Amino acid sequence: MESLRPSSPRLKGMAPYDPKYLPAEAVLSANENPRDRAPGLREDIAQRLEVLSFNRYPDPLANDLRDQIATANGLDRCEVLVGNGGDELLFNLALAWGGPGRKTLDIPPTFSVYAQNATLTGTEVVKVKRKPDFSIDEEAVLSRLAQGDIDYLIITSPNNPTGDLADQRFIERVLEATDALVLVDEAYGEFAGESMLFRLKDHKNLAILRTFSKAYGLAGVRLGYLLAHAEVVEEFIKVRQPYSVDALSQVIGSCVFEHRNEFANEIAHTIEQRELLFKALSDIADVQVFPSSANYLLFKVDDAGEVWRALYEKGVLIRDFSSAEDLKDCLRVTVGTSEENTLFLGVLEQVLKSRKTDAAK
Ligand code: PMP
Repeated sequence: MESLRPSSPRLKGMAPYDPKYLPAEAVLSANENPRDRAPGLREDIAQRLEVLSFNRYPDPLANDLRDQIATANGLDRCEVLVGNGGDELLFNLALAWGGPGRKTLDIPPTFSVYAQNATLTGTEVVKVKRKPDFSIDEEAVLSRLAQGDIDYLIITSPNNPTGDLADQRFIERVLEATDALVLVDEAYGEFAGESMLFRLKDHKNLAILRTFSKAYGLAGVRLGYLLAHAEVVEEFIKVRQPYSVDALSQVIGSCVFEHRNEFANEIAHTIEQRELLFKALSDIADVQVFPSSANYLLFKVDDAGEVWRALYEKGVLIRDFSSAEDLKDCLRVTVGTSEENTLFLGVLEQVLKSRKTDAAK
């Protein structure tokens, strides 16, 4: 056949999510942990993989890992769900609580995948934009929720890409104000040291999303998890793909989770580096940097797209948000190792200086 029927009208005009996966000397673009897992831990993982049956399907619900996560968080297995990265669980949320005739409230600028998932599932996106300093317009969110027609919303804390934490008292007010499912995305929660976990027992409409990709350094393995009321987890199970979490990921996740207390130093180091990077960026006259509780910093600079390109040409890959809605002139840098951060700062200063010299010519 020479011709092809068009795909779903929902895909019309949609650009696929593009994380700009590019090679570079310093990859500071995807909020990953810059350190790989320690050799001892990798040996432990290798031994467990050695005896794994590749010919058998994995446990569809990853119950061993689910139990470990449940115990660590004072929950039951039925209040935990493991997914193929937090991304899968975010998509499941849109499938389970969205759909034609249903609405989600989005608080941009935030993780663009939320709105994309809504569009893919035919869910209407109601936007309540953040204030110019990127803080949540709390009263506007609450008053929109008061209309009673929102089916689910996501509060990202810390928010990506802006780095700010949502006020826990605000989240509490949201949970009281609506029966919509409120997913608090704590993908970067380990760097902030606060969580809404303590409110889970009191609010049936609260769900928490976490990931192994950031603090646990397993972005390549694809594991995330949901903590929620058993009824919420049941609905997620209805829409998920049966074997989305493969056997290798389950074993690796289990092993890393057992060792999670050893990560405290790494997390503390990242926070320390973030503060150093924040101070250094604040000292650059042409840069406006936003405070962050995560493992990245958002900053504004004139002609950000050009600055991004110049940095990349010199081996430093960061994330360019300058053409994204509400993020004009914004770039985001992930906190790397101290060597990577020094390289980034040196190259940035060089790029900004040569731009000034060119302008003076
Ligand atoms: N939530 C937020 C806010 C994120 O930034 C990300 C990763 N970019 C995710 C969820 C999903 O992460 P993963 O699929 O790697 O678990």
